[in-house]
Amino acid sequence: MRPVIRGDVPVNHNHQPVVYNDYKDARDDLIERMGDYCSYCEVALNSQVDVEHVLPKSLNPDHELDWSNFLLACGNCNSIKGNKDIDLADYYWPDIDNTLRALVYEKDMPPQVVDDPDVDSDRVQETLDLTGLDRIPGHPKFSDRDRRWLKRMEAWGIALRVASLLKVDDSDEMREMAIEVAIGRGFWSVWLHVFYDDIDMCQRLIKAFPGTALECFDDDTNFVPRPGGAL
Ligand SMILES: [Zn+2]
Repeated sequence: MRPVIRGDVPVNHNHQPVVYNDYKDARDDLIERMGDYCSYCEVALNSQVDVEHVLPKSLNPDHELDWSNFLLACGNCNSIKGNKDIDLADYYWPDIDNTLRALVYEKDMPPQVVDDPDVDSDRVQETLDLTGLDRIPGHPKFSDRDRRWLKRMEAWGIALRVASLLKVDDSDEMREMAIEVAIGRGFWSVWLHVFYDDIDMCQRLIKAFPGTALECFDDDTNFVPRPGGAL
């Protein structure tokens, strides 16, 4: 799960913080800040991108128009998360924590809980359960309508092909082309793990996807604790 920065409330042409009359009006500002990707599963979003309320608006009407309560979500993540009553401390969040430190990405596997004494594995599992990120065929709650696993697998396949092409023809142009493909596909975490040993590619990926939280990496793109976060 890509750690992202939403930033402060956007300002209008009078340099005043924007006041949204409808939460859906925040969509384009959120996309500009964080790219048009689901904040949870990282799929590249189509025109049906949803403004996601971290604290569900039905239970927290005071936060329905609250910029700091917004993320972006695909239909699957949004509907699985639903109206569950949220205590932020029960989960890791892409806008607060270095969520990269919570999950392991492996080919042909759903995102898994990392084995790290610094990470609260129950909290990671709660995070996976909240959005169903680990649902693949065979999972008791898997639905045929949920194609996130398939899109993630496709991204793995393409990222691995791009990595093998780079081994044959490694140039700045090829690297930029690889980033263009990654931007179009989404699943940033998959790309980052495929190119984990290639610091230059990791740096390009971090820069290319809008809103990636730079504070989650050191100069060698190792994952570091996020200031203010639980991870
Ligand atoms: Zn999603």
